[in-house]
Amino acid sequence: MTTVTSDLKKSAKKVPVRGMMDNVMEQFNSAADHINLHPNIRKILSITNNEILVNFPVKMDNGEVEIFTGYRVQHNNALGPYKGGLRYHPTVDLDAARALAMWMTWKTSLAGLPYGGGKGGIKIDPKKYSESELERITRRFTFALADNIGPEHDIPAPDVNTNSQTMAWIADTYMSTRPPAERTANQHVVTGKPDASGGLEGRDRATGYGVYLTIKFWAEKTNVSLNGKKFIVQGFGNVGYWASYFLEKDGAKLVAVQDASGSIENQNGIGVDELFAHCQNNSGRIADFAGSKTVDGNKFFAIDCDICIPAALGNQITKENAPDIKAKLIAEGANGPTNVEGEKILLDRGITIIPDILCNSGGVVGSYFEWLQNRNGEIWQLDEVMVKLDKKMKESFNKVYDYSKTQKVDMRTAAFCIAIQRIEKAYIQRGIFP
Ligand code: NAD
Repeated sequence: MTTVTSDLKKSAKKVPVRGMMDNVMEQFNSAADHINLHPNIRKILSITNNEILVNFPVKMDNGEVEIFTGYRVQHNNALGPYKGGLRYHPTVDLDAARALAMWMTWKTSLAGLPYGGGKGGIKIDPKKYSESELERITRRFTFALADNIGPEHDIPAPDVNTNSQTMAWIADTYMSTRPPAERTANQHVVTGKPDASGGLEGRDRATGYGVYLTIKFWAEKTNVSLNGKKFIVQGFGNVGYWASYFLEKDGAKLVAVQDASGSIENQNGIGVDELFAHCQNNSGRIADFAGSKTVDGNKFFAIDCDICIPAALGNQITKENAPDIKAKLIAEGANGPTNVEGEKILLDRGITIIPDILCNSGGVVGSYFEWLQNRNGEIWQLDEVMVKLDKKMKESFNKVYDYSKTQKVDMRTAAFCIAIQRIEKAYIQRGIFP
């Protein structure tokens, strides 16, 4: 295991195109300027606490050994244990994990949770591996991370290309490597687990439901009816599917979807359940869905619609495509989907952005409920979870909306200011050791 101390400024210079780290730092600095953040606290929050990089060997099905690289970046834990997902994707690297960990710090703070921010994953294209290889990769990664994760220290969750099964393997590996008396008491080392393994009923839909709720709250504030409104979704995985499911139930119409396999459109409407059933039989891919036409992926964000939900990867809405966007509202299901240049264009055009740290925070709120459930030895019912999630999302939305109106700033700046101020308060109260 190698522990790397970061120099964010140096590494940011090495990134040839706008990296996610450039975006999160610009967002942070602009909010920090707005609230006149104490310079010492700005220094602390500009850098990650710990960066863990592990290279580990795994035996493949054909008997050969392959070496994998995994990351866990722990940005800040002033408010509680590090919290954030694990992503399996070829784009995972230190820059991406740093940026995503920072966003988690702001997200958990904004949501009023007793957590800090972390993120990680493995640089891998999981499609190239069998189920049993993925299980061994996940278990060996967990073993390599060792005590760098833990239920009161750093609590991973699912993210792109990881799911409840991945979390079950991590929990089982972590618990199996504890001393016997501590094994079962450690299942909350991860959240997003399957139901029989300590998972929370409703955690699967929590992020997408939260995305839908923030759109609904925005519609209520602005006197817009969602009935008949057209929406497009990039990414039809956990977040994209559930957000679409709830929006469709409220009368809105899904007209275009893009995923890693292609882009489809039908202005008369794409049935969410039909598309989901198609994906179930098509390795999770939307390609070849009968109820739509295939469209050019480069022009996806220019498709006619009222609401656009990027729910795949970061850096998708940029200065190249922002001028052509038709939607009046962007609801950021993904983390960091709009870069700073793209955002400036959208705001100048009067388009509202519900920022990621608010829009997709239902996931980490659901994770918090699961963690509490495990910690307290309880089992929560679905209706209870949904009511509690609704209440928490509404509180966060109202805080951000009201701040943006009173301070005359966009919703992202508002969300960042609220989040940073809570952490600033903790540092001011506690001081800096020694
Ligand atoms: P997922 O793996 O379930 O789905 C990802 C989707 O994105 C898939 O449909 C995939 O085909 C698509 N995709 C991948 N590469 C793409 C590309 N280049 N162009 C278009 N589509 C592409 O992942 P998820 O859990 O739904 O996460 C999606 C986003 O939401 C990520 O940014 C993640 O960080 C964020 N998020 C997830 C959660 C959660 O609880 N799962 C919580 C908060 C934020």
